[in-house]
Amino acid sequence: MPEVKTHDRINTAVLLALMSGLYYIMWKEIAPVAEYLDIYMLLVFALAYLFATFYLSPDLDINSKPYKRWGILKFLWWPYKVIFKHRGFSHNPIIGPLTIVLNLAIIVAALLLLGGIDLHSIPSSFIVAVTAGMVLSMEVHIISDNVVSKMKRIF
Ligand SMILES: [Zn+2]
Repeated sequence: MPEVKTHDRINTAVLLALMSGLYYIMWKEIAPVAEYLDIYMLLVFALAYLFATFYLSPDLDINSKPYKRWGILKFLWWPYKVIFKHRGFSHNPIIGPLTIVLNLAIIVAALLLLGGIDLHSIPSSFIVAVTAGMVLSMEVHIISDNVVSKMKRIF
C-alpha cells in the first residue's frame, strides 16, 4: 500500500482534476448535472473531500497517520480500529466508506444534539455534497491501494 504522503498526494491530484472537470461542466453547462452545481456546493464538496483525505482514511483501521491526526479525539475511532482488521472491510469499496460515514454521522449527530441544533435545519444539498466528497476521497484511497498492490505483484 502507498504510504500516507503518497495517498495524500494522489487524493489531492484527483481532487484538482475533478474540480477542474466539474467547474468546466458548470461553466459551460454541458451536462444536465450542471443545474445542481454551484460554487458553494463545489467548495463544500472539496472541503469534505480534503477533510476525509486527511482524517477519514480507510486506514483508520490501524494506528495510522489519519488515526493519529485526531489527537485526543482519536478515542472516537478506537472502536472502528478494533472492529476492522487492516485492509479488511474498511477497504471494501462499499462497506468501508459506509461504515466510516456512519461512524462520523453518529459523532456529528451527537454533537449537534448536544449543541441544540435541529438536524432538519441542515439543507439536504449540503449533506449530499459533504457525503459525496467524503465517499469519493475514500474510494480514491481504496483504488490507490489496489493499484499499488497489483503493481507490486507484477514487478
Ligand atoms: Zn489503505
